[in-house]
Parts: sequence; C-alpha cells; structure tokens
Amino acid sequence: MIIMKSLKDSDPEIYNIIQREKERQMNGLELIPSENLVSTAVLEAMGSILTNKYSEGYPHKRYYGGNIFIDQAEDLAIERAKQLFGAEHVNVQPLSGSPANMAVFFALMNPGDKFLGMDLSCGGHLTHGSPVSFSGKLYKCAPYFVDKETELIDYDAVRKLALAEKPKMIMSGFSAYPRTLDFSEFQKIADEVEAYHVADVAHIAGLIAAGIHDNPVKYCDVVTTTTHKTLRGPRGAIIMSKIDDRYHDKYRKEEKKNLAQMIDFNVFPGTQGGPHDHINAAKAVCFKEALQPEFKDYAKQIVKNAKTLSEGLMDHGFRLITNGTDNHLMLIDMTNKNITGKEAETVLDEVSITVNKNTIPYDQRKPWDPSGIRLGTPLLTTRGMCESEMKSVAEYIAKAIDHRNDSTIKEKIRQDVLQLCKKFVFYS
Ligand SMILES: *Cc1c(COP(=O)(O)O)cnc(C)c1O
Repeated sequence: MIIMKSLKDSDPEIYNIIQREKERQMNGLELIPSENLVSTAVLEAMGSILTNKYSEGYPHKRYYGGNIFIDQAEDLAIERAKQLFGAEHVNVQPLSGSPANMAVFFALMNPGDKFLGMDLSCGGHLTHGSPVSFSGKLYKCAPYFVDKETELIDYDAVRKLALAEKPKMIMSGFSAYPRTLDFSEFQKIADEVEAYHVADVAHIAGLIAAGIHDNPVKYCDVVTTTTHKTLRGPRGAIIMSKIDDRYHDKYRKEEKKNLAQMIDFNVFPGTQGGPHDHINAAKAVCFKEALQPEFKDYAKQIVKNAKTLSEGLMDHGFRLITNGTDNHLMLIDMTNKNITGKEAETVLDEVSITVNKNTIPYDQRKPWDPSGIRLGTPLLTTRGMCESEMKSVAEYIAKAIDHRNDSTIKEKIRQDVLQLCKKFVFYS
C-alpha cells in the first residue's frame, strides 16, 4: 500500500479513517460482487500528479496545451483496451459506468426514443431504464423480464417484445443475474428489428477479458463496461464500439459522424468535461495486468469459487436463484429461512461478512427491504482464497443466519472469520 506520510502529518483525521477502512477491508469477508482490490501499481497511478492536468478533447486534439505525456498515457490505455477486448474503437474517458451509459444513450437515441432493457427487479441496472434514472426519465423503456419458473432470460419473449415495440436500441447486460448471457441471440433480435445492440458488461468484463465468457465486442455495436469490478482496475468505465454506423438516421446523418465519433462526441463535450487523466493512466495499468497470463488464472478461480460457494450454500438449505451460478455472483432467496434480505445483510455484518440486500425476480417485497441477498467471489479470489475457503465461508454464512439470535455463536463466527482473513492479507 502507498505510504501516506504527508497525509498522516497534514490531515490525521482523514488518514485515520483510511487506515480504519483498510483494516475493515482486510479483517472481513467482502462478498459484494461489484467490489475488488486493486494492485498497488493501480493505486500509485491513481494517486499520481496526472491529476493536475486539464486535457479536454482526445489524444492529439486537445483544447489545452501541455498534453504530450497525457496523450501518451491515453494512447496506451486505448491500445491496451483494444488488444484486451478486440475492439475497433475505445473511449477510455467515462468517469464511471452510469456516465458511460448516458453518453451511449445520447449518441444512439433522441430523447423520447424507445429501448429494451432488463428490468431492475430481474437483475438489470438502474441505467437500463429505471424510472428514477436518466434512462427511464428521458427515454421510453420497454422492460424485459426473466421467466417466472426458470428465472432465466426468455429470448423468445425478448424477441416478441422487440417485434412489438420496434425499439431503437436493445440493451443486454446485468448487475444481478447469475448466468451467462447469449449475446449472439440478442444480436439476432437487434438485427431483425434494425436496432442498435448495446451490451453493458460492467460485472463480467474480467471474465470476458480472460476468455472465460463469450465476448460481445465481436457482435455488438457498442459495449460499455466499468473498469473497477471483475476487471480489477480503478473506478471508471470505457466504451467500445464499431466504427461504422449501420443504422444512420436523420439526426446522425446531419452530424456527419460515424458511430465511434458519435460516442466520443457524446462523452466529451456531450456529458463530460476534462478527463481524469490519473484514473485513465490507472486504467492502462489495469489493462496491462489483465493481459498477463495470471489474470486468466484469477478469472477461472473466480468462477470455481462461485460454484463451490453456491453449492455449499445450497447444501445448507439456501435457495439460490436459478439453482446456482455460471459467473462470479449468486442471488439467494432468504424466504425459506424466515429472514428478509435487509435483516440478513445486518446479521452477516455482525460477523464481518459483507453482502448486499437485493431484490429477487418477482419479489413480493420492496427494494429497501427485499427478499434476497447478492454475493460474489471476485474480491476473495484476489485475496488468494480458493475452494476450501469457500466451503468455510458457506458454513459461516449458514451458521450466522441459523443462529442469528445467539450472540455467543455469532462472536465465535466473527473470530473464525478474522482468523481466516489473517491468512489472506492483501494490503499490509
Ligand atoms: C455497476 C454497473 C454500472 C454502473 O457503474 P457505476 O460506476 O456505479 O456508475 C452500470 N451497468 C451495470 C450493469 C453495472 O453493474
């Protein structure tokens, strides 16, 4: 971890908060599937003097002078991302996943246009059409759902919806779906109705980069991803796209821009100002790490760990949505354990296991106190934990939930969790 001597001297309050948060991260089991631990190299790039520069525009076309080195860093980030995902065009400037999606919506649609997105309750993201997000406020979302019985995406139903609604864009991707997506099937549907296909792979980008999950970049017009989830980079996002625009409409023809140019134009100046150059350099570092052979081992282990954890939980009587997982995450329906998702989150917090409450498909309860919890294995995998640790984690979770009113047992589990964590220190 970076030595923060100046910070310790000049602002001990913030320094101490950071130290305590580091201890919390090291002394507990963080099972939130969107979280990870970045390398010290990524931290150092993020904490660098690149934060001082202003560089509105793109490499070699800036609105500010003095950008020779910033250009080199951004060029490297772009080249490495292209190599990692096989993309034709990459924009590395989006500040995070939601702003990346916003720029894509602005590039592909006019306000009021219709698109298809997976409903939030079935695992979609807020930016896939929720009424509280720009995506649901400025655009008309026709949501698709998972099948009530199988809890899987029903591609026939998506196709029927697309034929009926004639959307301008179809969004694939999720924040809480424990199975692989058939991106080629989404593409077929998009082709049939002449809609853009945008895949948002925020959660699974690391699995795609490692070649474990199907890479939608080869099918889709546009692919967005955060860089801080399974990809294990700094907080931020990138947008990958084809260069040519197959479905030029009047609006875009007037702009005389191809798809890649439309995306760039709607990141800056459309929705953002100056790029965060320190973060973009850290993205380049992350892409280099993801291009190493070890990254494949890490990604494979995430999936193995998730399988082992989900089987362990099912052995302890938990009902998993779709009865398991193909990726890094799982959703548990807590109904048969007579506890709500919110209560389960609190109980697990007491034994230093961090998960998040989550709706399950067709949830009878409300989002602030839903029926489920969501958990995932990327962060524990980065710490070096493997299958045998996952079996212990499943046991701790089951014991804590089953003995939630027994503080002696909970204290014992908390100690066991601490002992396990001490064997897998990541930041010393
Ligand atoms: C996490 C996530 C995002 C948003 O990322 P932020 O960086 O939190 O804005 C977008 N789409 C999906 C599918 C996600 O899971």
